[in-house]
Amino acid sequence: MKIKQNLHTHTTFCDGKNTVEEMAKAAVNAGLLSLGFSGHAYTPNDESYCMMPDDYEAYRNEILRVKKLYLGKLDVLVGLEQDYFSTEPSIETDYLIGSVHYVEKDGEYIPVDETKEHIESAVNRLYGGDIYAFLEDYFRLVSDVHNKTHCDIVGHIDLCEKFNEDGKLFDRTAARYVKAYTKAVEKLVSEGCIFEINTGAMSRGYTTFPYPHENILRLIAEKGGSIIFSSDSHSTDSVDFKLDEVSELAAKCGFTEYAVFDGKNFFKEVLSCTA
Ligand SMILES: [Zn+2]
Ligand SMILES: [Zn+2]
Repeated sequence: MKIKQNLHTHTTFCDGKNTVEEMAKAAVNAGLLSLGFSGHAYTPNDESYCMMPDDYEAYRNEILRVKKLYLGKLDVLVGLEQDYFSTEPSIETDYLIGSVHYVEKDGEYIPVDETKEHIESAVNRLYGGDIYAFLEDYFRLVSDVHNKTHCDIVGHIDLCEKFNEDGKLFDRTAARYVKAYTKAVEKLVSEGCIFEINTGAMSRGYTTFPYPHENILRLIAEKGGSIIFSSDSHSTDSVDFKLDEVSELAAKCGFTEYAVFDGKNFFKEVLSCTA
């Protein structure tokens, strides 16, 4: 079915390739009715990809300028992607996405989505080669992400799948892995979080499946969790990347509804499956 909203969008204010206005134009061309911006909030441990606190005001003002420009054509919303280690946001936003991009171990911040080699060498050095201990730490942070960031949406809950298409980084059916994500899902469902189905790693060629992997999607459905569709787009060509396709996957995994945000509240729409 046609998905008409994406709340996960990056621009040149952080590590995206296009401006706010270029992304809005692309969204209209793609047939979206609503576009939310979710610039990376400031993380003191890594300034390479995020906004600096001084950028926040200009970021918000630019989105509000484009919102006026597109009034009646596209509903433009102000959000942020708060990392677990981000400092508190200093601007007013319509919504927040809470994401874990690092695991902190012995004072070191290990990026979960940088490269496979980086993860493997850090796991060898800091976890004695036990990848599942690293993944358990990752999901411990994920399970606390709502508590820490007060997010509305949990971003890419299994970001650790980014370099694991072939299952060679870890076995996604391993008991310790399943237990770690199950605990996180149960906690976040009980807190009323919305889980995003995120096509970012698909659009960048890393995986053929979205975050979360089907196994976790089925668990979220079984536990009664809510979902929302997002592209985690960093450029105009992926603003609505495969959102329609993954809505079919969601229906297959047992979801009958998905969340939509009207700028104030999240409400449910019926997920109609064509399959
Ligand atoms: Zn992210
Ligand atoms: Zn993102």
